[in-house]
Amino acid sequence: MKKAEDFSEWYNEIVERTNLTDKRYPVKGMNVWTPYGWKIMRAIDTQIREELDGTGHDEVCFPLLIPADQFSKEKEHIKGFDAEVFWVTHAGLNPLDVKLLLRPTSETAMYPIFALWVRSHADLPLKTYQIVNTFRYETKQTRAFIRVREIHFFESHTCHADFEDAERQVREDYEILDRLAKRWCVPYRLLRRTDWDKFPGADYTVGIDTVLPNGRTLQLGSIHQYRENFSKPYGIEYEDEDGEHRHVHQTTYGMSERLLGAMVAVHGDDKGLLLPPDVAPVQVVVVPVLAKGASEEVNRAAAELQDDVKRAGVRVFLDDRDVRPGAKYYDWELKGVPLRLEIGRKDMEKGVVTYVRRDTGEKSLKNRAEVAQDVLQTLVDISTEMLSRAQQRMEDDTVDAESLDDLPEKLIRLGWCGDEECGHVIEDRTDRNIIGIPVEDEGFDGTCVVCGKKASSPVYIARAM
Ligand code: ZN
Repeated sequence: MKKAEDFSEWYNEIVERTNLTDKRYPVKGMNVWTPYGWKIMRAIDTQIREELDGTGHDEVCFPLLIPADQFSKEKEHIKGFDAEVFWVTHAGLNPLDVKLLLRPTSETAMYPIFALWVRSHADLPLKTYQIVNTFRYETKQTRAFIRVREIHFFESHTCHADFEDAERQVREDYEILDRLAKRWCVPYRLLRRTDWDKFPGADYTVGIDTVLPNGRTLQLGSIHQYRENFSKPYGIEYEDEDGEHRHVHQTTYGMSERLLGAMVAVHGDDKGLLLPPDVAPVQVVVVPVLAKGASEEVNRAAAELQDDVKRAGVRVFLDDRDVRPGAKYYDWELKGVPLRLEIGRKDMEKGVVTYVRRDTGEKSLKNRAEVAQDVLQTLVDISTEMLSRAQQRMEDDTVDAESLDDLPEKLIRLGWCGDEECGHVIEDRTDRNIIGIPVEDEGFDGTCVVCGKKASSPVYIARAM
């Protein structure tokens, strides 16, 4: 299946052929993490941990089950999640007095405990995060990593003395995201959701969205400002310096295994995956190119090459299977290994190694003696270029429109006055969703496509994946 012809089918096929996940588990939407898929997810998790630990967050791990009465304290929140919740109603044969639910997200698990942890201004800010699985009963068609019912999920939860400090946290979240997205070569836009589309219970929600090759958007995560919307019902209070009791202001930041889905979708091609070097379980594969009578010699040189690359801190694999080199190339291209090194007798005689980049297919000869530094530099180049190509494609898939008719299947930017009524007209007439208003000022100068009033900011609309 060709990516350009049928993206959706291509995606399913690539996930299947590369064995990133096993969908045969007998609960729909709950897939098995295979060794290869889990190694990539674990690299993503490790980098999230590095960023969060490095910005003064502490990792916690809350229980999976939430009592129904805790869950229903914040009214908007429960309305938003009610239809997606998995319930636990029995313990053995006995019905439970208070029903329990599997966390769809962890606000209602954490906040009753935060109310006990936060006492005085000295306890603030409280910056925590966890990486756990969450559960949502999706009714739409499931799709590996993109729409599942058991979701591998990162969520940070913070408490602050006032709104301003919570706003500082939101800005720090943008910076964390930007550093991570660069490592993952994933382009994104920060789009503030409309009031009718924000997270249930949030004061405002900023979505982290990327554009897929079929022109649809994929939400990779979100950042929320809660103000006191949760701290009031959950009683999260602190005593300020004057002895006054105040409610904390809260934020959250969440991202899921969709990040992996986005890497597959954005970078893969008709040959298979193309993994960003920072998350690839195998960054470099060494393939000996054997000639008659010289196999032992070449194999030894390939093993030495592997050792040198490994010492440089690179995840390298020596493919010394007894199959043709062509079959090896095919397998590693499918798996998305960013760089292949070939070494044969001719290379050995000339003191060189053949480099083959997975992203461009470019072949080059480089000095054997400088392999450690050259491999590191090539991986950096691949990563930088993967990101810039993906960013360019996202730009190309974003178009301006001045009316609501004949819109292409892309991310569309148009003028909107901000009135809810005009917003609904835009969504109904285009059969698309308002994804949001850009967080960054785009210097937009236009008018609302519905009422003609001046629009100080554009709005992005699309069909969401
Ligand atoms: Zn309007």
